[in-house]
Amino acid sequence: MQPTIHSKLPNVGTTIFTVMSVLANEHKSINLGQGFPDYPMNEELIALVNQAMKSGHNQYVHMNGLPLLRERLAEKINGLYNASVHPDNDITVTPGGTYAIYTALTAILQPGDEVIVIEPAYDSYIPNIEINGGIPVLVPMIYPEDGGPYRIDWEKVKDSITPKTRLIMLNTPHNPTGSVMEYSDIEQLRGIVKDTGIFILSDEVYEHLIFDGKKHESILRYPDLMERSFVCFSFGKVYHCTGWKMGYCVAPPALMKEFRKVHQFNCFTCNSPMQVALADFLTQKDHYIQLGSFLQQKRDHFSSLMKQTKFRALSSCGSYFQLYSYAEISDETEKEFAIRLTKEYGVTTIPTSAFYKNGEDNRVLRFCFSKQESTLEAAAERLIKL
Ligand code: GLN
Repeated sequence: MQPTIHSKLPNVGTTIFTVMSVLANEHKSINLGQGFPDYPMNEELIALVNQAMKSGHNQYVHMNGLPLLRERLAEKINGLYNASVHPDNDITVTPGGTYAIYTALTAILQPGDEVIVIEPAYDSYIPNIEINGGIPVLVPMIYPEDGGPYRIDWEKVKDSITPKTRLIMLNTPHNPTGSVMEYSDIEQLRGIVKDTGIFILSDEVYEHLIFDGKKHESILRYPDLMERSFVCFSFGKVYHCTGWKMGYCVAPPALMKEFRKVHQFNCFTCNSPMQVALADFLTQKDHYIQLGSFLQQKRDHFSSLMKQTKFRALSSCGSYFQLYSYAEISDETEKEFAIRLTKEYGVTTIPTSAFYKNGEDNRVLRFCFSKQESTLEAAAERLIKL
């Protein structure tokens, strides 16, 4: 008899990032879909990995992450966010930010727990909640009719809290909208969680990719919020090496203890030579300090090119991404239009409906601008034809 599969994720298909990248490769289209740079990473960092391998750093490192790397991260966090984070108790190195998010949710959720998810939301959040028996409670962001930044609707967040609310998921700078949380958002959040047992999971993988002089409102800055939070980061986004799948999670000791219980029996530890190299490279602050202006130039270059098209830009103040409305071009659904753009015009994007559980469709596509100028120019040249 054949065993029967009772899927834990019956409604989940293949992630949109893979679907669109496969389609882009098939049609040799310019891929502004999945978020990754097409420019080379730093040679010195590559050399440091090489050197680490050659000098014998090829066995397991501590399951929480290389101690020197955690020390350097604690220094960085202290310098940037004035937060005192203990390298042994509060930081765990992970194979990427997505894994850190999954691990934190797995550590904390019990079946029936409700989790506030602000939509649009990165596509892994809801399956991560559901596989742990949690119930996503969806709160739509305020959609900017005037093209201004998407905003969190705190009144709706407040109204969605019940005795079963276990956790609120946040993401700043935000994928896919490029909006960033302001201090007023922090105050609203404070008002909601104080006197509750609600945890916070803050996805801050785009922490340095922030534009127009805005400040990254990391949860790490606020001890009263930090005591109930997991904050997740990515080295891939900082050092242009998304394929390395390296990240880390910061949380207070009691939370981190539970996080590590899950982590130790899943991936256990991350690759050692990359950790040795990153520990060394982290001392050069310029590489992350300059990142905002580096990416801002790309956003500006792309948006000035896009002015020659019929796409209408929505405001992006951070991340790799900018949303563009195509309402003036077509009535097709986002998915149909994104597929046609790849096949007929040779430019790949991500339909924003993929970031909504119920597939809400606002005729908006996500473009990744973390590309060489020549790539952005070639894409715009094709989009002008629409
Ligand atoms: N975070 C990237 C994005 O939003 C994709 C990562 C992935 O493909 N899993 O495009």
